[in-house]
Amino acid sequence: MLKCPKCFNDLKKVNNSYVCVNNHCYDIAKEGYVNLMLANMKHSKEPGDSVESLRSREAFLNKGHYQKLAEKLSELVGKYFKNNDSFLDAGCGTGYYLELVRKNNPGLNYYAVDIAKKGVAMCAKKNREAICFVGNVFHLPFGEEALDGLMSVFCPYSAEEFSRIIKKGGYVIAVTPGKDHLLEMKTIVYDEPYLNAEEGYKLPDFELVESVKVTYLMHLEENADIETLWRMTPYFHTTSKENNERLLGLDKLDSKADFLVSVYRKVR
Ligand SMILES: [Zn+2]
Repeated sequence: MLKCPKCFNDLKKVNNSYVCVNNHCYDIAKEGYVNLMLANMKHSKEPGDSVESLRSREAFLNKGHYQKLAEKLSELVGKYFKNNDSFLDAGCGTGYYLELVRKNNPGLNYYAVDIAKKGVAMCAKKNREAICFVGNVFHLPFGEEALDGLMSVFCPYSAEEFSRIIKKGGYVIAVTPGKDHLLEMKTIVYDEPYLNAEEGYKLPDFELVESVKVTYLMHLEENADIETLWRMTPYFHTTSKENNERLLGLDKLDSKADFLVSVYRKVR
């Protein structure tokens, strides 16, 4: 199923490597993932999130603050996919969502990709039955219409690439912030907090079949959680240091989680 990123011929698993007909060889790391990222496909030596931010993100997620989102994703995968379907987590991060999706829907063939190698290693450890690889969601090592579907959770995406690799009739499940996501946090950081523009993905070859909101109040009871959550957002990088620091002294905060989960079907 996977293609060689160099010559785009099929990769076959031979012992502890993936090999193509031209003998391009990609070794499987001890954590169980394979690196299919070529040097010319990345813009820095270690692209994606740093180990430190991946670890704090994992600690935050393991406390269950985003579990309701993981539950909704596994419910939707159960609704739209059947046994033996091939399914990609396109931007798997540390593999938190995939773990629950797989547990509740064990009959699918799972793939997971992320640009951050350390994230893929963490994902592979808890998702042994998935084929986890380092790669770029804008150049995926799959043939035309190879997959039944994918999920993309708070990630960059490519409408063209998704359309190329998904079968007609297949699905994309996308998660984007709802309008009230982290509103209480933003109220602390900004003098004039704004609501998110609530929008899904723009996928011209797909039609929207379902969109669901997942909204609840999170009880954050440690400063580490408050800081990690804020750092997980795109706001952190676009906000002044002074404003970001308004969250540093806080030990407790109730803040809304508000997600938009959109399901699209490929129609052409
Ligand atoms: Zn090759």
